[in-house]
Amino acid sequence: MRKKIIAGNWKMNKTPSEAKALVAEMIDKVANAACDVVVCPTAICIPGVLDAVQGSNIKVGAQNVHFKESGAYTGELAGNMLKEIGVDYVIIGHSERRQYFGETDETVNLRTKAAIAAGVTPIVCVGESLLEREQGITAETVCRQTKVAFLEISADDAKNVVIAYEPVWAIGTGKTATADQADEVCGIIRDTIKDLYGAEVADAIRIQYGGSMNAANAEELLAKPNIDGGLIGGASLKAEDFSVIVAAAK
Ligand code: PEP
Repeated sequence: MRKKIIAGNWKMNKTPSEAKALVAEMIDKVANAACDVVVCPTAICIPGVLDAVQGSNIKVGAQNVHFKESGAYTGELAGNMLKEIGVDYVIIGHSERRQYFGETDETVNLRTKAAIAAGVTPIVCVGESLLEREQGITAETVCRQTKVAFLEISADDAKNVVIAYEPVWAIGTGKTATADQADEVCGIIRDTIKDLYGAEVADAIRIQYGGSMNAANAEELLAKPNIDGGLIGGASLKAEDFSVIVAAAK
């Protein structure tokens, strides 16, 4: 049985004081969660949020990590820096990073390896664009993204990675993949992992769905056999909505 995982991607929202207030509001609401609960604030908000969640079941994630341990990479954050302050997860290859910041399948692989080396659990995002879906190459796209992301990663490390299937056309648009569409592609990703590592890793690895998941549709999506959680954008900025999604992840 895979334990579900709900992660909130706060993107570039909330000042440090607002971030602390938001997570403080969430603590009691998600205290009885049956799933892993993660919030991913902006880097500058992480220390305050880490302080606020002490003693609770909420873990903290970052929104990116660089692939080098240190050096002349202005504006970047290394895995060991995240690890040292208590960050447990990091989102890698979000479609907004791919779209606006030149992230490629190759840099996603490098960052995933860096996170693993630092002891921070990667949440690796894959997903097709609207054009790719319309061209009928959704499977081919997520398959390629997954295969490249996992290059040179051992089976032992692979099974602890979290994959987020996020169809680009469903992110922040209010358009959700139907539960069947989301389950089908999560199944394709799991089959890709099976081809790479065998059934044991494919059965163990957790695959989230992300793309306009909210308090109203979470239960149906999370009931699907291949969906092991959610990566939540907009709805994770409201403590009440986020807690309803967490409660749906049984
Ligand atoms: C996301 O950015 O990862 C996401 C799924 O956003 P939203 O829930 O707002 O579509």
